[in-house]
Amino acid sequence: MKIAIVGLGLIGGSLALDLRRLGHTLLGTSRRPETCEQAVALGVVDHASPDLLDMAEADVIVLCPPIEAIAPIAERLIPHLTSSTILTDVGSVKQPIVERISPQWPNFVGGHPMAGTAEQGLEAAQRDLFVGRPYVLTPTESTPQESVETMMEVVRSLQSTIHICDPAEHDRAVAWISHLPVMVSAALIAACTGEVDANVRELAQALASSGFKDTSRVGGGNPELGLMMAQHNTAALLAALTQYRTQLDRCIANIQNSNWVELEAWLVQTQQERPKYIKP
Ligand code: NAP
Repeated sequence: MKIAIVGLGLIGGSLALDLRRLGHTLLGTSRRPETCEQAVALGVVDHASPDLLDMAEADVIVLCPPIEAIAPIAERLIPHLTSSTILTDVGSVKQPIVERISPQWPNFVGGHPMAGTAEQGLEAAQRDLFVGRPYVLTPTESTPQESVETMMEVVRSLQSTIHICDPAEHDRAVAWISHLPVMVSAALIAACTGEVDANVRELAQALASSGFKDTSRVGGGNPELGLMMAQHNTAALLAALTQYRTQLDRCIANIQNSNWVELEAWLVQTQQERPKYIKP
């Protein structure tokens, strides 16, 4: 197939590397002409052009720019596509994107590969990034089955695990396991920073070890990502944060009331639940 990648960064570049190795012809475009040149020089794509409309000849176009650019780029491309062209994206939030693009292009299959690194840009692109990782597809009732099957074949060829789900359910699920942890972890760091006694604060910084490293990692990451989650998955994130506050209140009340039996039951339950989320 002829596959076009729009946005040659970490995800777009990594997809291009794998899909080209699998024998597809890869076209690519990016915001900066230098990135297009670099993508050809590095063998990430066969042909690159700074002109978005040069991607219209592909059979499948994968939109991989920052999330807010996905729908506007789709809208620029749509008037130039033939009806069989499959549009897909990799955005980390699905409902607003699917709701905006699907009515304009029935052959749009929303997607979200659940893989990444802390790095950004084409230099960070790597082979096999998606192997063994979940890859969500969010077709709607009106998405042609043939297009869904083509996308399933592409995802399978990357050796990812396919999950087909409703866009809103996807957004609620990632709010729990990805977006809530970023805010909770950021709040943890902010709370520690709020220690008014400078000696205690510095001692805490000196003593911090693996537990703090694990629990603060996602809150100490790229601020743009956290902002993107809050701006594009607002309702689901607020619902998750509210439920989290309820759990914190319950924890505080149990400690204030020396209700050790209930606190222990709560901790036993969380210990039992964790393996359902973290596979060995
Ligand atoms: P990234 O490394 O910053 O790559 C995005 C690339 O898009 C940039 O390198 C930029 O390249 C290019 N770009 C920016 N604006 C553009 C525009 N208007 N038109 C065309 N290209 C444009 O970011 P990423 O991590 O790959 O994320 C890209 C998408 O993947 C996002 O929608 C994100 O939600 C999704 N995603 C990310 C992860 C993750 O963990 N990082 C995981 C799953 C999904 P130049 O400026 O060099 O041209």
